[in-house]
Amino acid sequence: MMKGAHFPAAAAAFALLALATIHLVSASDPSSLQDFCVALKPNETAVFVNGKVCKDPKLVTANDFFFFGLQNPGNTSGPLGSRVTPVNVEQIGGLNTLGISLARIDYAPYGLNPPHTHPRGSEILVVMEGTLLVGFVTSNPENRLITKVLNAGDVFVFPVGLIHFQFNIGKGKAVAFAGLSSQNPGLIIIANNVFGSTPPINLDVLTKAFQVDNNVVQYLQKQFWYDNN
Ligand code: MN
Repeated sequence: MMKGAHFPAAAAAFALLALATIHLVSASDPSSLQDFCVALKPNETAVFVNGKVCKDPKLVTANDFFFFGLQNPGNTSGPLGSRVTPVNVEQIGGLNTLGISLARIDYAPYGLNPPHTHPRGSEILVVMEGTLLVGFVTSNPENRLITKVLNAGDVFVFPVGLIHFQFNIGKGKAVAFAGLSSQNPGLIIIANNVFGSTPPINLDVLTKAFQVDNNVVQYLQKQFWYDNN
């Protein structure tokens, strides 16, 4: 009798735990609760929500789902020799709540899209032109580099949150497009984030973390950390 009384309670507790676990691992952009939720422009509301406040559907037009200009190459004349042109919810209000976005990436010869992560989105990259050395690094403790050389037509995936890069190793320019699984995937450029924060991270913190001399960290903190976005 006691067994009969306890087992359902244990099963219920297990089910609750399983549900909680499922909830945790399915954390991504929330599902859309209507056909669309076009973003209001900044200053059109003082209310903040998770995502953007929806425009009245009756006022929505085709232009709320439209972006023009991705046929144009980005300016790669900066020190990294690369330029990311994002098309996310900031550019297309109609992407609000839909969990996707896009980017065009241009690379000069030897141009680099430096090691970075997207905290909220996985990325699928298709090379349109040129030859790219790409890679990402798996989590601690493995820290394994997964890397490949890509040519036109090749597709590669960068899992959410992992540090990744693309380097143009061809003789000419390169062009790629990337789909991202968030309306606002976010961007952390590792060098900029660690050495170019405002205010700077305490010198002793970085010196100990990177196991180098103070001067090396000071030198890195003095660099102008170029943003290719
Ligand atoms: Mn990326």
